[in-house]
Amino acid sequence: MTALPPGAVIGILGGGQLGRMLANAASQLGFDVHVFCPESDAPAARVAMKHWQADYSVSEALTGFARACDVVTLEFENIPVGAVEAIVATGTPLHPGAKSLALSQDRADEKAFLQSIGIATADFRIIDAEADIAPALGALGGKGVLKTRRDGYDGKGQAWLKNEADITVGWETVGRAPCVLEAAIAFQCEISVVVARSSTGETASWAPPRNVHEDGILARSTVPSGLDQTVESEARRQAVMLVDALGHVGVLTLEFFVMADGRLIANEFAPRVHNSGHWTPEACQTGQFEQHIRAIAGWKLGDTHRLFDAEMINLIGKAGLIDPSSLAANETLTLYGKREARAGRKMGHITRRVGPRKD
Ligand code: ADP
Ligand code: MG
Repeated sequence: MTALPPGAVIGILGGGQLGRMLANAASQLGFDVHVFCPESDAPAARVAMKHWQADYSVSEALTGFARACDVVTLEFENIPVGAVEAIVATGTPLHPGAKSLALSQDRADEKAFLQSIGIATADFRIIDAEADIAPALGALGGKGVLKTRRDGYDGKGQAWLKNEADITVGWETVGRAPCVLEAAIAFQCEISVVVARSSTGETASWAPPRNVHEDGILARSTVPSGLDQTVESEARRQAVMLVDALGHVGVLTLEFFVMADGRLIANEFAPRVHNSGHWTPEACQTGQFEQHIRAIAGWKLGDTHRLFDAEMINLIGKAGLIDPSSLAANETLTLYGKREARAGRKMGHITRRVGPRKD
């Protein structure tokens, strides 16, 4: 693919904050942005040149959108297969492609694929009916996390099973949907690798942040992670191996559990820019949103070098109603423009410059 010139049109499927930050980065590089999403007044649509408002099931609308774009990308992976097919049929490139999307949409397929390329995951069993749970729980040591195979995010569609007595309620909690039951992992900490692969096959990753979740939602990411260099390098190696195996184009994020002995267990991957990479625009030479646009536009990737030690703090729910004058001099605020601060809703984030690089 030849590099897209300034003024070319980048199409983004999805109207949330990731789309908004992608649109802003694309615009900074001289591209025009069209956003496709069903909602009116969506964060990404409000910064785009054009908003195609229709449901993802309306193939005529998707076709029109894709024809108006030079390349189409997305800010969320749970895009229906039919929508992917409608876009691909127009001949406009879709990055990332069907393989990255299909595998990340199903937790069972995702884990099987990771294992098949030599990336360790938690032991798991496929659950199709309530009766499958008790034997699986026994096989996994009596404790585990039930997760819907599809459509889970921010800890939704999950239930912890601490013993057999939790099965019935857990099965209700996940809506009796097809699931995986995962072994409970007693990790030392969690990290993620944000990595980019361009349409020319070039790859670049950022140093992995240490991530802390609260109620299944990312609360904070910190760099450096404080882990041994060998652990970080191994995590980055595995992430590059994954994007190569997928033929992925764009940014992808691979989440890991890190065990006390430094062993890595992959949790899941998202075929897109990620909340745990929100510190990169301020703290690195090139941020994840710019990098994603470079990758899908066939540009040379930017330098991922980190400039200072940093911390990213999510503003969730009412915390999003922050008074900007309360910020310290070493803090950068990003707000997503959401009209309502509902509980558990990601409203914005702060990147804090903690100090000069120590590693
Ligand atoms: P989501 O798609 O909602 O991000 P995850 O599978 O990443 O779902 O789970 C969210 C968080 O829940 C993880 O980051 C981790 O903190 C915790 N968690 C998930 N699976 C396990 C597990 N098998 N063992 C221990 N903790 C887990
Ligand atoms: Mg996750």
